[in-house]
Amino acid sequence: MKFRKIGVLTSGGDSPAMNATIKAVTCSALSRGVEVVGILGGYSGLIHENLRPLTKKDVSGIISLGGTIIYSDRCVEFKTEEGMQRAIEVCRKNQIDGIVAIGGDGTFRGATDLSIRGIPCIGLPGTIDNDITATDYTIGYDTAMNTVVKLGDQLRDTCESHARCNIIEVMGRNAGYIAIESGLALNAIGVAIEEIPFDKELLFEKMKASRAAGQRSFIVVVAEGMGAEFSEQLLKEIPEKTGIETRFVRPAHIVRGGIPTLRDRNLATMMGDKAVDMLLAGKSDLVICSRHDKVVATDIKFALILDRMYKNKLKEHDLDSFTPHQIKEMEAICEERRAYFKDIYDVMLTVGC
Ligand code: ADP
Repeated sequence: MKFRKIGVLTSGGDSPAMNATIKAVTCSALSRGVEVVGILGGYSGLIHENLRPLTKKDVSGIISLGGTIIYSDRCVEFKTEEGMQRAIEVCRKNQIDGIVAIGGDGTFRGATDLSIRGIPCIGLPGTIDNDITATDYTIGYDTAMNTVVKLGDQLRDTCESHARCNIIEVMGRNAGYIAIESGLALNAIGVAIEEIPFDKELLFEKMKASRAAGQRSFIVVVAEGMGAEFSEQLLKEIPEKTGIETRFVRPAHIVRGGIPTLRDRNLATMMGDKAVDMLLAGKSDLVICSRHDKVVATDIKFALILDRMYKNKLKEHDLDSFTPHQIKEMEAICEERRAYFKDIYDVMLTVGC
């Protein structure tokens, strides 16, 4: 099939470098003689025919911008058969031959639904949470971590002045990636993530011993997935158990915005170009991943079931359509992820103070 025009959309929670991704997709397609249309506001833009042609001039200066110039949204209507059919009609009417969908796992489900109904789609992992198990890095994750580190460094300054502890609760949905990486970089004395049981008593003991040895400031990082009650409880308990004055900060959506880092921009660029490659090669229903520093294409179904395996949420027939080789590969990736958390956590327990 000869591609004349492709659509690009950003959907679900936004992330830094979504714009860099849009830029890469647009420039990659235009330089191969394929037109690009921005679908405004994710899948709802498709249903409501909110489309905007994108030229090189439109995207030339956006690589360094946070947010997404084609907006993001959550669209419940798209999940209905009626909404889906309307989206397909809009594609046909506007001669959109394929779509690059940038977002998280929900966005990929939508992309699969379109793919199986005859609209070729390629997914790109745009989320700060890094919670797509099939890829080592998602677009926006690096910037979000660096934003947390910048905020944490500033908190450290004032904690040091006042001999305080500061708890920082960071986004990441149910994944502890941002928390563990930024905790390590901030020299946190404790990091609470869902992936590893948290030993509060050990934290209190370490804090008391460090304070007795003269340490003034402490940073504790808590992952959003632990729940707001966990942070509130810790905020009460640290002063009670250690005598150390403690404050609490939740940067929340601040870490979703901002100028993307070099790593995110370049990941976005490599992945965006690969997505266009795949579409033009007649491929569909794939998500572009980074595995061991290589940009590769993975089946969306593989990626979604892998996520469920990693979260121990597999349903009865989930693995039926996969070969033993694929199942082994999934198990190996899950193992790699668990080892990753354990390795960093162990180092942090030893050297974090
Ligand atoms: P994310 O992509 O960040 O995980 P969401 O889960 O909110 O964010 O999904 C983004 C959008 O993708 C939804 O608003 C909806 O339009 C679409 N979507 C999510 N799940 C499905 C699904 N099961 N089938 C079709 N579309 C879906």
